Amino acid sequence: MTQTIRHCLRSQRVVLPDGVRAASVHIEGEKIARIGEWDDVAEGAELVDAGDLAVIPGNVDAHVHVNEPGRTEWEGYETATRAAAVGGVTTIVDMPLNSIPPTTTLANFEEKLEAAEGQCTVDVAFWGGVVPGNTGELAPMVERGVCGFKCFLIHSGVDEFPHVTEDDLRLAMPEIARLDSVLLVHAEVPGPIDAAAAMLQCNDIRAYETFLRSRPREAENEAIEMMIRLCRDTHCRVHIVHLSSADACDLLRDAKREGLPVTVETCPHYLTFAAEDIADGATHFKCCPPMRERENRERLWDAIADGTIDMIVSDHSPCTPSLKLRDTGDFMAAWGGISALQFGLPVMWTRLRERSYNLGDLTALMATGPAKLSELGHKKGRLAAGMDADIVIWDPDDKFTVRRDLIEHRHKLTPYEGMLLYGKIHATYIRGRCVYDGAFHDVSGALLVAPRG
Ligand SMILES: [Zn+2]
Repeated sequence: MTQTIRHCLRSQRVVLPDGVRAASVHIEGEKIARIGEWDDVAEGAELVDAGDLAVIPGNVDAHVHVNEPGRTEWEGYETATRAAAVGGVTTIVDMPLNSIPPTTTLANFEEKLEAAEGQCTVDVAFWGGVVPGNTGELAPMVERGVCGFKCFLIHSGVDEFPHVTEDDLRLAMPEIARLDSVLLVHAEVPGPIDAAAAMLQCNDIRAYETFLRSRPREAENEAIEMMIRLCRDTHCRVHIVHLSSADACDLLRDAKREGLPVTVETCPHYLTFAAEDIADGATHFKCCPPMRERENRERLWDAIADGTIDMIVSDHSPCTPSLKLRDTGDFMAAWGGISALQFGLPVMWTRLRERSYNLGDLTALMATGPAKLSELGHKKGRLAAGMDADIVIWDPDDKFTVRRDLIEHRHKLTPYEGMLLYGKIHATYIRGRCVYDGAFHDVSGALLVAPRG
């Protein structure tokens, strides 16, 4: 008989679903057994006293491109999940594309699971993909444990993950609704982007302005309008990934008011940077849809304030540094993707605290919200009895500067380099085990497959 390990973790600042207070978190094995008063230390339990450091449910980053197998030179399970642990992220949900094969069939999903096995420091779950003609694969993938599905409405950047049209979605969305699953959408349609391309031929390829104008807000606005319509027609839950165009917020606000099952995420970079400040040739700031003007950023913050945006996730999408074309600074040809998994928590805490949000808001946006989207809300994203003991101890008042030697991502290029951030992670627990406390421990293979299990 193995003995269940019991810990009692206490602090003056425990972030609970009903507020921040002094409390003790009682852990038995992989689960939180109960939440107690601060001075309630059960006999025989190992006490970890975190003083007045913040104790939160680990962030759930529901938008991570791990790229393994197939493009492991871009990132990989080992490096991505180490970066997650150091960054206070206890679960990542892997995107179905950029790996080869993409997660678009049951057989491909099995290949991914095999690739991830034994390499992961934090828990990993998976999104499947919707591509033309794979409706028959959706049920088996849900059965095997994908959290839901992602699709593109425009070229995805990689040829093995083709985008879908409205006709394709009219086949796939009723099936996703029948499975009570969710469709994540990269919401840009080609029309306005093709029209912009025709106008931009002689422009400076090193200027951020050229790239920005090549991905106009209309592409997002029209895509979101279509997805709301399809959501209404098919009753399929729809989630808009990485919202950038604040012009679409009114449409989303109305859809929510109408009671449609639509949720929205944005990313730290859209809430941090402004197009006006991005230097010529600084292609490590390129992503799609693009970071837009300061005025747009401020209206995204308004949508955070009124709940139109439900959550914040990294969209960590790195590549090899050479694909960023830093030598030529060609914005139009460089790979689009921001490397950010490790810094989501401190970046967002730094931004949230300067706008007078609190630790509960951070947790709602970065742990509870994404856990619920990923159908992991019954075991992740909250500190409460019966939940997985995925816990992060950190100092919200301590600052650090992002330096290359701190970065656990496979490649160190990130737009956050040199930035001064609030929020230093002290320890990360995955299902009751401390996997990181300045050094890595016991990293032999967290892997989560079935959200409904
Ligand atoms: Zn992405």
